[in-house]
Amino acid sequence: MDYSLKNMDTLNTHANPLLIDSSLLDSFEKLLNWSQSHFAHLPWRKSRSLYATLISEFMLQQTTVTAVIPKFINFINRYPSWEHFHQIKEQDLFALWVGLGYYSRARSLFNIAQKFKNEKDFLTALKNGLKIQGIGPYTRGALLSIGMNEPEMAIDANIKRVLSRYRMHQDTNFYKQILRHYSPRALNEALMDLGREVCQARKIACEKCYLAPNCQSAYKNPSNTKIKNTPNKIILNLHRFVLKQDALFAAIDKTKGQWLAGYLELPTLIHISTETDKNAAKQYPEITEYDIEFLKKQHLQPKQHTQTITKYLIKNHIWIIQDRSENTWHYALNLFKNQEMQWRSPESLWASSSQKILQSLTL
Ligand code: SF4
Repeated sequence: MDYSLKNMDTLNTHANPLLIDSSLLDSFEKLLNWSQSHFAHLPWRKSRSLYATLISEFMLQQTTVTAVIPKFINFINRYPSWEHFHQIKEQDLFALWVGLGYYSRARSLFNIAQKFKNEKDFLTALKNGLKIQGIGPYTRGALLSIGMNEPEMAIDANIKRVLSRYRMHQDTNFYKQILRHYSPRALNEALMDLGREVCQARKIACEKCYLAPNCQSAYKNPSNTKIKNTPNKIILNLHRFVLKQDALFAAIDKTKGQWLAGYLELPTLIHISTETDKNAAKQYPEITEYDIEFLKKQHLQPKQHTQTITKYLIKNHIWIIQDRSENTWHYALNLFKNQEMQWRSPESLWASSSQKILQSLTL
């Protein structure tokens, strides 16, 4: 398939012939064909619109393609157009977002739905560079280039890595020159695909890469992209309480300004140590060493479950208490005496970590 915009080549292009020669264009052409033949099936690439791109881009930020596919299909089936999206209720959007994490994105998406009646108004705001919550330079570029096929740069982490390896330094001029030769949508997506699948941060498969003939880092350990150690995560010790009454579970309805606002969470306490950061410590009431020891002396042993969320490594200590006549039941309720407790079914709108805990239990 021919993705090139040869006619665009004449538009104000002063490409250095040493950089943009026919072999280089040929390698990019092959890359675009590879991207098309391997990834055109992705649901957000089947029917193009600014709206579909907005939903997919918000979902794809920091979430894997595999995790996003069913969520995207479900979302678009329920809200097939911007007109439907404009009517969406916050609770419904949050329910469709469960499992994708980063609820601030869901909140920003809801604000966009409320603010813009139609796609045209949203596009105008994007083009005029208006400040829109949740949309930074990358997302703006992605919406215009992928959603509208406009010649905009959308440099995400994948593209940045590929281009810096390809040229051995950060070079947006080169990217701009290449952008003049191809469909911006096809080029940006192909570079993203390459970075995600072939030219990965820790695993580089130059033998599979169509850009290898002109790449300055091909088959080398690229010196400009040293593999960074994952920054140390901040450990949070969260003590989650599963208190069951008939078929309902104790829940805290998280309010505005708190983490996971808009969702239910299992009653949760934080065990504060020297490594707990201040922001996290403010989110939950504290559980002391004494409380933990007391519960253990009552022959309770918490289940352990670890997860990573953004900069945090969360160690969940899950206390399951079902017998309302026991000391531990009253002791646990007393730990949350300053919080408004509700009793909710497992089908309610729980934050994904609480939902996973409930799903993992056979009570
Ligand atoms: S040749 Fe290797 S280093 Fe260069 S872009 Fe391709 S995969 Fe990355």
